[in-house]
Amino acid sequence: MTSAELRKAFLDYFVKHNHTEVHSSPVIPANDPTLLFTNAGMVQFKETFLGQENRDYNRATSVQRCIRAGGKHNDLENVGYTARHHTFFEMLGNFSFGDYFKREAISFAWKFLTEELNLPEEKLWVTVFEEDQEAEDIWLKEMGISAERFSRCGAKDNFWSMGDTGPCGPCTEIFFDHGADVAGGPPGSPDEDGDRYIEIWNLVFMQFDRSADGTLTPLPKPSVDTGMGLERLAAVMQNVHNNYDIDLFQAIVKKAAELTGEKDLTNSSLRVIADHIRSCSFVIVDGVLPSNEGRGYVLRRIIRRAIRHGYKLGMNDLFFYKLVPVLVEQMGEAYPELAKEQANVERALKLEETRFAETLENGMKLLEEYIDGMSGDVIEGEIAFKLYDTYGFPLDLTADVARERNLSVDEAGFEKAMEAQRERARSASSFSAQAVDKIDFDGETQFIGYECDDADTKVVAIFVD
Ligand code: ATP
Ligand code: MG
Ligand code: MG
Ligand code: MG
Repeated sequence: MTSAELRKAFLDYFVKHNHTEVHSSPVIPANDPTLLFTNAGMVQFKETFLGQENRDYNRATSVQRCIRAGGKHNDLENVGYTARHHTFFEMLGNFSFGDYFKREAISFAWKFLTEELNLPEEKLWVTVFEEDQEAEDIWLKEMGISAERFSRCGAKDNFWSMGDTGPCGPCTEIFFDHGADVAGGPPGSPDEDGDRYIEIWNLVFMQFDRSADGTLTPLPKPSVDTGMGLERLAAVMQNVHNNYDIDLFQAIVKKAAELTGEKDLTNSSLRVIADHIRSCSFVIVDGVLPSNEGRGYVLRRIIRRAIRHGYKLGMNDLFFYKLVPVLVEQMGEAYPELAKEQANVERALKLEETRFAETLENGMKLLEEYIDGMSGDVIEGEIAFKLYDTYGFPLDLTADVARERNLSVDEAGFEKAMEAQRERARSASSFSAQAVDKIDFDGETQFIGYECDDADTKVVAIFVD
């Protein structure tokens, strides 16, 4: 089954069961300052769960574009290292707003997987929240699943929250066993973090609203929020283990290989680039441009990271924005907003790539020389800061290079250097304000700006007659 067929099969199944199909909301949440990016299908329904907004349906289904590259759910560091994480992915979901609860949610999910998609039960593994006896009984006694492929887990994995505040509740999850060739133990075991048992679907029983001080207030009506990664399900259905080997990704990976000349399609830099073009493009589509703060800085970090991976593959020319057309070919139909914004996305990416190209090579040279000459395995904060300040290397980009060589970065040292810089800027700006105050303008003198001497932080106001 292709990814497009899977999206449709999922939506059709839930529409058949009286769910209203709702289009994906943008990756930038509307009116929600608590959240950097839309990280799950439930985000556009947050107010409905909280009982603050009524919709004319109480069952919904969607395929939501999600970003997990900041805040509570951040998978940026996993990309390129696991078979299952992306910064951008699509979440298939079904929702009940005070309508059905645990029993139906479990039964819908199990039947979709085992009857619609015909997945063998022996390949599936189920977990529940350790305190949720009700869910356990439904699985073991009513659905009759095997106790051998079942575990009870703690709050870390089986109590889901959108962010530090907002709707949350206990959950039950379904995993797919990719077989003994892959390292990793079953859920709940000490080596569960491997990629053998891959979590495909999370069914959350939305019961509480978490406030900033951690208090849990029961929601007006117990509800259901489920999320299943399209890419993970596609991997299962296409008999591949790694998400990057599915149809949706292969076209992009191949194009990246063609542009960079890399022959090995499993090269992790190609995968990182293929991942990053998706998140960066959608963040731009939904209205954010690269900048030095907030969402714009997350975008800048991801773009620069992708470009550095291109550089690692030997690219000295612009290449990243050239992946947009293949992305639009793959996803433009499901997301018409992407197709519509294609030209703007290309322009924004090209501009950022051009900007970073000016400093990337020199920054990399400095870093390489430093690494060649360093002792120990921690890159000094001062160096990371210089790369940041002079060469535009976000800290995580330097950390990414470090990790490839089994090194780390002194992040506290970086912060210290950054703080010292801010301090200098503060005293410089108060000095210049004073200086300007004292100038007696005679109408002939024109102020043209400040000159900043980095070495001793002296700021001089320059005037011409
Ligand atoms: P994992 O434990 O593998 O990191 P998760 O528990 O963080 O996943 P949930 O928050 O439960 O994931 O999200 C629901 C579903 O969304 C997951 O079961 C998975 O199928 C999918 N998913 C979550 N994070 C990602 C990601 N970074 N890339 C692709 N799919 C993801
Ligand atoms: Mg996760
Ligand atoms: Mg998990
Ligand atoms: Mg989960």
